[in-house]
Amino acid sequence: MHRIAAIISQGDEIVIGQTLDTNSRWIAARLLAAGISPVEHVSLPDDRIAIATTFARLSGKVDLILCSGGLGPTADDLTRFALADVLEDTLVEDAQSLRQIEAWFAARGRQMVDLNKVQAMRPTTATMLPNLHGTAPGIRARLGRCDIFCLPGPPRELTPMFESLVLPHLEPDRTRTVRVRVLHTIGLGESEIAGRFRAAPGGDLMDRNRSPLVGTTASNSVVSCRIRYEGPLSSSEADSLVARDEATIRSLIGEAIFGEDEDTLASVIVNTLKARRQSVATVESCTGGLIASQLTDIAGASEVFRSGWVTYANEAKVREVGVPETLFKDSPGSQAPGAVSAQVAHAMALGGARQADADFAIAVTGIAGPGGGSAEKPVGTVYVAIAGRGCDPDVRRFAFTGDRVAIREWSARAGLAMLWLTLSNRRSVKLLRQVEVARV
Ligand code: AMP
Ligand code: MG
Repeated sequence: MHRIAAIISQGDEIVIGQTLDTNSRWIAARLLAAGISPVEHVSLPDDRIAIATTFARLSGKVDLILCSGGLGPTADDLTRFALADVLEDTLVEDAQSLRQIEAWFAARGRQMVDLNKVQAMRPTTATMLPNLHGTAPGIRARLGRCDIFCLPGPPRELTPMFESLVLPHLEPDRTRTVRVRVLHTIGLGESEIAGRFRAAPGGDLMDRNRSPLVGTTASNSVVSCRIRYEGPLSSSEADSLVARDEATIRSLIGEAIFGEDEDTLASVIVNTLKARRQSVATVESCTGGLIASQLTDIAGASEVFRSGWVTYANEAKVREVGVPETLFKDSPGSQAPGAVSAQVAHAMALGGARQADADFAIAVTGIAGPGGGSAEKPVGTVYVAIAGRGCDPDVRRFAFTGDRVAIREWSARAGLAMLWLTLSNRRSVKLLRQVEVARV
């Protein structure tokens, strides 16, 4: 039975922060969806003793260990050796794996070098998990009452191996149910949400002793509320508890909720526009194409995304999308509003929508810093506009804080959030860090 699990990510590159550990996040979500609770994540350097002692410690705590990385052919790939150490076992060559590795090279017109032979080695009591997308087979072993799955580090090798060779062997406790529902919001800060949850009719939703557990996570301007049930109820009973909490949350902060679970602002926008057969364009300055990138990340964007401009220079704003030249300051004492202004943001959006023949355009102009600020328009001053034939213009001024990266990310989110407010008829919602709605 697999009730609780630990996840190990293995490799110097992970521990020093050179590679972001996306495997653990992915595995944790997949385990949870399968009804198994991850209770610990460990990142380890390429150190045989550290890996072996961690296997030993965790095998006394959890029913299942998922380890990624360290199965390569080079001297720093030590997972199989550490596994043999802790199993007090020796390594043998697995003939079938060796043939599969040789075949992998042959299919690519290459000869396997001797170095790769080590990848066919496994502890005698372990079994191999064939790798169809690379040379490193995974290894499955049992240590005491704990099942251990060692998977290759590269995500495109790990994910298919998990789906086809790990998932079918997982044995979640059928008498326990795990359900997670996530609601994504914009416009409300975490503490505002916590305040409203505290005043919920049935008592504080975020009480750590209640079930389901309700928690929040903030990522820039998006605050996500997580409802998580874990316990002995049947899945339909758990579903109705989670649905009850979801209804309560919707009654408390419904106006701020834009999506659920895997939804993002960009995916919700693309899907909404697709359903309405409407289109969008982007005209970006300080965000440098981030909004266009997030929209086109979504499968199906081609049906709704018309065109995106990065009009960084004033001349480009004039030439590409027809912003009137007179809006830019041509001399220090000029009365013109300047590049970072509501008028320019509005003109960028209108011009972009027209040029792209789109229903809506999102435009952003602002000062991401660290230089370029003034007393009147400090670093973090950003104007975002939504305009086009599909709506009346909406132009807002924001005062973001943080470094250049943060200001650009907040600005991109604000652009997407404002289009979503337009599409969902919620323009009265004030966004975080918004200082005014500009009259244009
Ligand atoms: P390895 O199996 O140790 O040879 O890992 C090979 C490559 O997989 C590394 O260079 C990383 O690019 C990638 N990788 C390893 N572990 C992770 C992880 N936890 N998350 C994301 N990528 C990883
Ligand atoms: Mg490695």
